[in-house]
Amino acid sequence: MLLKLARMPSVKPKKKIHFVSLGCPKNRVDTEVMLGVAQDGGFELTTEADEAEVIVVNTCGFIGEAKKESIDTIFEMAELKKVGSCEKLVVTGCLSQRYPTELSQQMPEVDHFLGTSDMLKLGKVLKGKADRMLVGNPADWVIKASDPRIITGARASAYLKIAEGCNRSCAFCTIPQFRGKQRSRPIDDVVREAKQLAQQGVLELNLISQDTIAYGRDQARDERSTLAELVQRVADESGAKWVRVFYLYPEKIDEALVDLLANHPRVVPYVDMPLQHASDAMLKKMKRGHGKDRQKRVVDHMRSSIPDLVFRTAFIVGHPGETEEDFAELVDFVEWAKFDHVGVFRYSDEETSGSTKIEPKVAEKTIASRWRKLMAAQRKIARAKNKALLGRELEVLVEGPSEEHELVMQGRYAGQAPEIDGHVYLSGGEALPGQMRKVRVTQAADYDLVGEIIDEETFTDAPAPKPKKRRVSLKVVGTQGDNA
Ligand code: SF4
Repeated sequence: MLLKLARMPSVKPKKKIHFVSLGCPKNRVDTEVMLGVAQDGGFELTTEADEAEVIVVNTCGFIGEAKKESIDTIFEMAELKKVGSCEKLVVTGCLSQRYPTELSQQMPEVDHFLGTSDMLKLGKVLKGKADRMLVGNPADWVIKASDPRIITGARASAYLKIAEGCNRSCAFCTIPQFRGKQRSRPIDDVVREAKQLAQQGVLELNLISQDTIAYGRDQARDERSTLAELVQRVADESGAKWVRVFYLYPEKIDEALVDLLANHPRVVPYVDMPLQHASDAMLKKMKRGHGKDRQKRVVDHMRSSIPDLVFRTAFIVGHPGETEEDFAELVDFVEWAKFDHVGVFRYSDEETSGSTKIEPKVAEKTIASRWRKLMAAQRKIARAKNKALLGRELEVLVEGPSEEHELVMQGRYAGQAPEIDGHVYLSGGEALPGQMRKVRVTQAADYDLVGEIIDEETFTDAPAPKPKKRRVSLKVVGTQGDNA
């Protein structure tokens, strides 16, 4: 009898794709959408650039340093077309949105360019049916809950983009030129995505946009929602344990939002409000639309209304026209306000910004010295704030093995935002990434804490992490932008 042997169908190996995400968390979300598009397109995601057939660099074009980093990364990845497996190099994001013609002329090694609203076009690129230049109108797109997305980064934490673009005109900022005017997402769609993320095991939702306080103002009157309404619904309905709001502009703060920050058990008492400067003359030059008194009132009001408030801000030093007196006022303000976390950025000219036309410029050496002085003033404050936490019991979200030592686990308490603030290093007990654990603070350094685990089990009442989708690690370069 003849035996017919069935042949195993040959399985074609999947093509591999590698992503580099530069810049701020808003860019990170866009990269995560492209990761979803690539996976839906049948690609395997790899963290090894030299084994990928397709490499995508999602660029930042915010300031000079970020642009240089983006260009260096593109050239570094282009080398892999010669020595690695790379067949297709794709450049996306702010830099290509800002300089499409220049890049396409000067970077022949790049196969496709996509802008800040073109994430979904990656699908066409991967099918091999796309033009080289795909940079569209920056106002064309804002993420939807139905878009594919793969979460990256620390376990159990995700960014939730609530709007795109910005309607303000701060003199130093070019973001509205390449991210477009503000487009707020419908409230139901944001809540839907928040629920999806929580179902994937996300315990911490970080609400982001360019100008978060302005959420909803661009919506039609009968569909309009405020930021407070959005935060309330995300906190009530998503199931996430921590809801954190980034990039609040220092305008008159909505009391409903203050009330949520003060009283809602799932809204963390953390305010991120980039103030940029503190002298009236500089705030005017920066076209911020308010003076120092307003800023003082807002900081005071927040501090007195929100128990245990953790306040993060950011400043620019060396903006054109900044005198020694302006800078001294800024240092005084920082010492008065006693912020918990401060980012200090050194000003650099951007050719299309209003600030570039302002004279006189501040010398590079002076900018560097002012940066050091402000950082030193803040370091003392941060150290004292951390020392005040010694002996306190905190709820800590465990992220995973620390960057310092793989045998030590690290996490964050609610006063430490992902990627920009410090960590809590854990001692005395075992912990798993994605758990919420009770920790007593035993040591405090300038920016980080050490704490011993004092509970037996996780005490979270949020859904246990049940990842439906794979989480991938991703090369993320750069830091949070200083906008808003
Ligand atoms: S700094 Fe922020 S608020 Fe000002 S224009 Fe830029 S994105 Fe808008």
